[in-house]
Amino acid sequence: MSKPFLPFTRPAIDEETIQGVAEVLRSGWLASGPHVRKFEAALSEYCGGRPVRTQTSATASLEHALLAAGIGAGDEVITPAMSFVATANVIVRAGARPVFVDVGLDTRNIDFDQVEAAITPRTRAIMPVHFAGLPVDMDRLYAIAGRHRLRVIEDAAQAIGSSWRGQRIGSFGDLVCFSFHPNKNVTSIEGGCVVGGSPEEVQELELHRFHGQRKRAEDEVDTLFAAGKANLSDVAARVGLGQLAALERFNARRRELAARYFSLWEQDPPVRLPARGDEGHNCHMFAPLLPLERLRISRRQFIEQMAERGIGVGVHYASAIHLFTAYRALGYRGGQFPNAERIGRETVTLPLFPAMELSDVDRVVEATTDVLRRAAK
Ligand SMILES: *Cc1c(COP(=O)(O)O)cnc(C)c1O
Repeated sequence: MSKPFLPFTRPAIDEETIQGVAEVLRSGWLASGPHVRKFEAALSEYCGGRPVRTQTSATASLEHALLAAGIGAGDEVITPAMSFVATANVIVRAGARPVFVDVGLDTRNIDFDQVEAAITPRTRAIMPVHFAGLPVDMDRLYAIAGRHRLRVIEDAAQAIGSSWRGQRIGSFGDLVCFSFHPNKNVTSIEGGCVVGGSPEEVQELELHRFHGQRKRAEDEVDTLFAAGKANLSDVAARVGLGQLAALERFNARRRELAARYFSLWEQDPPVRLPARGDEGHNCHMFAPLLPLERLRISRRQFIEQMAERGIGVGVHYASAIHLFTAYRALGYRGGQFPNAERIGRETVTLPLFPAMELSDVDRVVEATTDVLRRAAK
């Protein structure tokens, strides 16, 4: 009998959470209410007591964080050329200019030498990404930001539960944004949050997620500016609460599975392995690079042949951001950020999620090694 298809990721929602959601659905209060406040309190506790405001996606969280920090027209924000496109899109949507720099080939994280070189009098902020949950060098990041008086908006969409020198991402630093998309280490179906901010900035975040409105009394309200709407529902928040309770267990399991990949591929791996990180890595993804120059097959064919063997393979991300039409229109072009471009061509995301067995990793490693051996030039 063949084994069931192994996807590259799958959320794990426990029965207690499903019951909890059913209770919320029966309660008569579905939009933002007590469970959103509870979820924010739990996230705040997780992040050392810092303020937390949730939104309907990390994309909204990042955009609101920029706006709350006062970043807009005429400003430059330095950000990596390899990430999910939302990282750069929010900078454009806030009215500022994304200034791309390259990333490390194995860490996938922003190259701080290039960050320093990219600073101009217009630079207002750095938006680094903790790619796959591997923290950027936080000492270097905040040293540069401090020296040049720059704000930092951390795209920590993939990094919940990661830590730097024993301190959780989100528990220190400037404005830190997490995602609760179903592919992330914990989910609220869709959702995200901003951690940190001055009291004034936290108020701004509240305005941005709800029409720019502030209640003055039960029957009196003001609209301070024309904002959109991005408030989380109580249904989503209840899912998030159940997930947050399992985060440490999930991440411990992810680390075991990732360690298995690294140990099975300790010698002569057929792929280029990503940077391993340490105990502070939440192992959000396991994404090696394919040695395409040495293969007779394309990445698409690799993915197809793995699927024939019952294994799902993702791609994060299929292109460096500056190569997209929207960013070429800002003057960027191919060849500017070779590592980001190469990662876009060669990266594949192999299965890694908490419900996997160690033997599933063995299966993936065997299949990958076999497909690549047969495809060798
Ligand atoms: C997932 C992700 C986002 C966007 O998160 P959403 O909650 O889907 O909006 C932004 N940046 C990175 C690096 C991500 O991985």
